[in-house]
Amino acid sequence: MNQNSLNQIPQPLLAWYYQNARTLPWRDNPMPYYVWISEIMLQQTRVEAVKPYFQRFIESLPDIQSLATVDDEKLMKLWEGLGYYNRARNLKKAAQIVMEQYNGELPADYEELCSLPGIGPYTAGAVASIAFHISVPAVDGNVLRVISRVLGSKQNISDLKVKREMEQQLLAVLPDDVSSFNQALMELGAVICIPNGAPKCAECPLNHICIAHKKGIELEIPVKLKKKASKVESLTVFIVKYQDKIAIQKRTQKGVLNDMWQLPNCSEILSTKQVEQQIKEWGIVPLSIRSKTKAKHIFTHIEWHMTAYFIETYQVDNNTQFEWVSVEELENEYALPTAFKKLLP
Ligand code: SF4
Repeated sequence: MNQNSLNQIPQPLLAWYYQNARTLPWRDNPMPYYVWISEIMLQQTRVEAVKPYFQRFIESLPDIQSLATVDDEKLMKLWEGLGYYNRARNLKKAAQIVMEQYNGELPADYEELCSLPGIGPYTAGAVASIAFHISVPAVDGNVLRVISRVLGSKQNISDLKVKREMEQQLLAVLPDDVSSFNQALMELGAVICIPNGAPKCAECPLNHICIAHKKGIELEIPVKLKKKASKVESLTVFIVKYQDKIAIQKRTQKGVLNDMWQLPNCSEILSTKQVEQQIKEWGIVPLSIRSKTKAKHIFTHIEWHMTAYFIETYQVDNNTQFEWVSVEELENEYALPTAFKKLLP
């Protein structure tokens, strides 16, 4: 990588950022707890989608102590719809460690932040630099794209070595206002040097030094290894209604959506006859089995192809494997992952 090009980034980038930074709830008051929560939420999720979740989360759990002691069900409910639920579980685990070992304050130290559950080099860099003004880079997908384009680099950004090298190169050019600099790089990647579609080079403060722009190869960069094709899993899902309640149950402790609530399901596509057989085994006597609906849900490495049956029942013989909940209870108390929610009428 060309260090000279990187040296030229801070000044125009910071000038642009001071003028154009978006107002964001966690930016108004960048206390460590807020920065941490927002950074975890922003993994895999867009800023606009995160805003209401963030507000609700910090209203409900205003500090590390309340996060450390929150009831798991309430935590899942606050996270419902954001997906990747282990992020929320790790937040609570980390908060408990912070209460026990750091007197309830996030440590102002990059390595110690890295040692907490759910905090990797990027998040540690973001919290350390934004909240504590520690001079470390914070390199996420946005930053990898911007820097690769500025340098005209066609190295594979999915390669961890390339990322580590970029962190080292950035470390050498960090300005005093490292908090703004790291946020400015992320911001440029989010609003100007965007991931999908053509970057807005005419508005970019780095267009005079950007090699990809000069060569007209913006869209060829960054280079990413092709992801492995997702594994497809077929599921038959049962939406079982008994009086004004529907059946839900807990998933197993392992695998995708572990320990979350789910609609009862089988991991294969069943015929109508097999569906009847299955619900009989559950002790459910059907009043009607209605036509099916289909939906797809995409996780990072798995794709679920779901076929749902609506079943009304008037009798549930000694059925202890399901929890029967009303729509209101489902809305207010139980966190049902989006994969299943999209099947509900
Ligand atoms: S000039 Fe264009 S390609 Fe280069 S960093 Fe700016 S927006 Fe990205």
